[in-house]
Amino acid sequence: MPEKTYKVVYERKNCIGAAACAAVAPEFWEMKEDGKADLLGHQVDEHGNQFIILKEGQLTKEMKKAIDLHKEAAEVCPVQVIHIYDADTGEKLI
Ligand code: SF4
Repeated sequence: MPEKTYKVVYERKNCIGAAACAAVAPEFWEMKEDGKADLLGHQVDEHGNQFIILKEGQLTKEMKKAIDLHKEAAEVCPVQVIHIYDADTGEKLI
């Protein structure tokens, strides 16, 4: 089976600083001094959104849960500014 690639996109401008993401997935989310979260290791896209690319096969053993943790963060965010896409098909998963 081909390795799946995921894209996590975070609309930082709409974050209300609820810190739910950092609570469920502190490995990937950090609260900053301006009260908003940062997606750790992010790049910034043309819309000013933060994003990271996760390749399933490249995740270390401890990171195998990464996709699930990101899904959890996306689900608990009260303003739904965290999105997960299948990077190959562009399908929005969350
Ligand atoms: S859960 Fe959502 S609103 Fe809260 S800090 Fe994270 S991204 Fe921002």
